[in-house]
Amino acid sequence: WAKADGKNRWAGYNYERNAREVARFTLAARMPAAVESEEFYVDYQPIVRLADGKLVGVEALVRWSHPEFGRLGPDQFIGLAEETGLIVPLGRWVLREATRQARRWRDIYGDQAPWVSVNVAARQTVEPTLVDDIATILRAAELPPSSIQLELTESAIMATTGVPLEALRALSDMGVRIAIDDFGTGYSNLAYLRHLPVHSIKLAGRFMEGLRAAPDADEADARIVSTLVELAHALGHDVVAEGVEDPEQAERLRLIGCDTAQGWLFAKPGPPEEIERWLES
Ligand code: C2E
Ligand code: MG
Ligand code: MG
Ligand code: MG
Repeated sequence: WAKADGKNRWAGYNYERNAREVARFTLAARMPAAVESEEFYVDYQPIVRLADGKLVGVEALVRWSHPEFGRLGPDQFIGLAEETGLIVPLGRWVLREATRQARRWRDIYGDQAPWVSVNVAARQTVEPTLVDDIATILRAAELPPSSIQLELTESAIMATTGVPLEALRALSDMGVRIAIDDFGTGYSNLAYLRHLPVHSIKLAGRFMEGLRAAPDADEADARIVSTLVELAHALGHDVVAEGVEDPEQAERLRLIGCDTAQGWLFAKPGPPEEIERWLES
């Protein structure tokens, strides 16, 4: 009977949901201790200048080496960390770790060291101590502020007003680079964009699909990319293309005038030694 059927489905749905809730609870409960005991680590992905293929920057991407569940990617715990507020201590840890790494690279490569880009959640920009924390970290590491870039997603930055916006402006004035991440996936107010203290724009990987070789090429996507690059340049911003997977995409981006690119074509995110192997080859 339909009702019994529906009832079973409903029960099944509940069990599944329950298991998910338990898993989330388990992860959330462990997170504070995990930050303390360094279960988190950071992988780095090259950001390459399209004109000459030089590695100019890297993006720091956090991972969790969970004692029970193994390696977890950020998609499995960042949302949870944001909901619980644990993103604040976790984000501070990532920033410290990335800065330590930037310091090490500066010691080895001097001015040729790549800048290090760190993802920052909207929740972190609300912290009244953000600007001081970053200033203190940079001073302690004796790093020029331009060796660090902060990435905020398009939706996070578009929602930024008042104190958080002042914080971003203060950081930008200090010389810290600010980037808009995943540009083109949310709702941008283009008029607002010109008032933001932004240094670069990261074009979302989904636009790169249309830049593949025929028959996968999509001229509408290609026109969107070239228009966004032109707009960003007109506003004085640098452009990074994300999710570049094949040489055709890289070549078309170079012809369009996009500044830098990041993606599996160049390298997947990996340990700092992989960046060093690249810089030394
Ligand atoms: P994101 O900041 O947009 O980072 C780029 C994501 O794209 C990374 O996924 C990277 O591994 C992946 N990627 C790179 N190249 C390619 C490619 O060619 N093709 C495809 N399909 N994917 C590529 P990942 O490491 O899983 O990170 C996912 C998201 O988690 C990040 O997206 C970022 O929003 C967030 N995240 C990572 N680390 C942190 C962090 O320390 N703090 C915060 N708040 N968020 C973080
Ligand atoms: Mg990012
Ligand atoms: Mg991105
Ligand atoms: Mg993202």
